[in-house]
Amino acid sequence: MENHYDVVVIGSGAGGGTLTYALAMAGKKVLLLERGDFLPRTKDTWDPKVVSTEGRYQTTEKWYMPDGTPFHPIIHYWVGGNTKFYGAALLRLREGDFGEVRHVDGVSPAWPISYAEFEPYYTRAEHLYHAHGKHGEDPTDPPASQEYPHPPVSHEPRIRQLDADLRQLGHNPFHLPLGLMIDEQNPRKSKCIRCNTCDAFACVVQAKSDAHVVCVEPALDTGNVMLITGAKVRSLETNPSGRVVTKVVVERNGEIEEYAAPIVVVSAGALNSAAILLRSASDRHPNGLANSSGLVGRNYICHQNSTFLAISQEPNPSIYPKTLALSDFYFASEDWEYPMGFIQMLGKSNVEDLRYETRLEGMLEDMTLEDMALHSLDFWLQSEDLPDPENRVTVNREGEIVLHYRKNNVAAHQRLIAKLQSMLSSLGCQEHLIPVDKYLGTQFPFNLAHQAGTLRFGPDPATSALDLNCKAHDLDNLYVVDASFFPSVGAVNPSLTIIANALRVGDHLVERLR
Ligand SMILES: Cc1cc2nc3c(=O)[nH]c(=O)nc-3n(C[C@H](O)[C@H](O)[C@H](O)COP(=O)(O)OP(=O)(O)OC[C@H]3O[C@@H](n4cnc5c(N)ncnc54)[C@H](O)[C@@H]3O)c2cc1C
Repeated sequence: MENHYDVVVIGSGAGGGTLTYALAMAGKKVLLLERGDFLPRTKDTWDPKVVSTEGRYQTTEKWYMPDGTPFHPIIHYWVGGNTKFYGAALLRLREGDFGEVRHVDGVSPAWPISYAEFEPYYTRAEHLYHAHGKHGEDPTDPPASQEYPHPPVSHEPRIRQLDADLRQLGHNPFHLPLGLMIDEQNPRKSKCIRCNTCDAFACVVQAKSDAHVVCVEPALDTGNVMLITGAKVRSLETNPSGRVVTKVVVERNGEIEEYAAPIVVVSAGALNSAAILLRSASDRHPNGLANSSGLVGRNYICHQNSTFLAISQEPNPSIYPKTLALSDFYFASEDWEYPMGFIQMLGKSNVEDLRYETRLEGMLEDMTLEDMALHSLDFWLQSEDLPDPENRVTVNREGEIVLHYRKNNVAAHQRLIAKLQSMLSSLGCQEHLIPVDKYLGTQFPFNLAHQAGTLRFGPDPATSALDLNCKAHDLDNLYVVDASFFPSVGAVNPSLTIIANALRVGDHLVERLR
């Protein structure tokens, strides 16, 4: 490929990988800079001890609390970004999330574009990432112009029973939309073997719709993309006017390299993207690039999350129980005037998972680990985290990440937990919920998996870092397409929205480059 690119994309995850795909398919030449490498295809990426306990596939770098205490961030730097280890639950934000939503702890701000403007990109994202589901099953599901490309992944018997019990209580459970290459009608043709290991693990048979498999590989096949791995972008430099990014400065194999293209897209994940811009401070941009609003790095949002085991009276031999979700408490309900959040099933805990759960000590008096694993129903509970300008990422003198974060909306999350707990005896379970660390739930006071919001988009340069096309207000050729652009995060998992937005910005860039 000749040494001229239309666009440099930094980061190959949900945002950057998808944008690279969209641009390459439109015939644009892309230089994709990724600090990670290709994830090895080994069974170790399925092993809970290796993946969760040893954290072998997580970054080894240190980040810092504001008081200087170091911590190990549980995030993944690979081609495909965090989607290599994600659970592939692909949900649309609810239509109400695009408006202002009142929560017990304050207001979740409205998005600057409507759900109707975003909808066609959700549909394209569902098709690109092989989503399985059924629109309209869930009363909070927003209007969709097309059905999912594939039917929902079926419930196994214990989950079918859970679905029936929830309906008996008057609830509206639905099939969790999932990005898997599974064909239940033709098991012989199905790439996915329904083995329960994709949830927080990488898929060795590449049947999970992650950004590497679905976007980066096909983009490379076009011949329009040059991927450089091991390329950690340190900072960006501009021309003398400060309006145009002219250099991407990269650390690679211990050397400094420089790259350039007419358009530069940062997509390194919400915390790293903001850090790159803050590290790019210059005379023209003394507080960091694109930061005339002072908002770069601020309003960090994640989710309030918890992971619980319920102990089912009947055994739960399900292999892949992550097929059910419930959003009856997503907005104000008869139960409370404020939103509580979203409940979804997780992959099945097995003995190996539980062996490394420190919080189970003392809870096993009348139960063996084997019993617990056989009877567990695994729940993931998620409530919205509200933007707060003081929840922010900064960089220290060495350019390392410092995370300032104080939880909010905790009362909503506690109510959601109590709500699930109150239903357990009617769901064929013992009455208590057992908190577990699995799926990164509780190891830190904040959740890095669903990081978002550090470079919010909007029409006004005083109150947003990016414009409506996700171009930095302060620059002519700098875009951001990862989770940074979210003004609010709702209570659903973020990837489908990141993917849809990357396709939306892709359309804009193809038009701009025409
Ligand atoms: C265990 C786990 C389970 C999850 N499950 C779900 C789920 O079921 N559904 C869902 O919607 N979401 C899920 N998520 C969240 C989802 O993975 C993220 O929201 C999504 O990947 C974020 O996309 P992104 O493009 O913003 O960033 P990422 O996907 O993190 O991509 C950022 C990329 O930039 C690269 N990078 C970082 N810094 C630099 C640099 N300086 N230079 C060059 N490259 C750089 C990284 O290596 C990475 O490839 C999960 C996350 C985890 C960790």
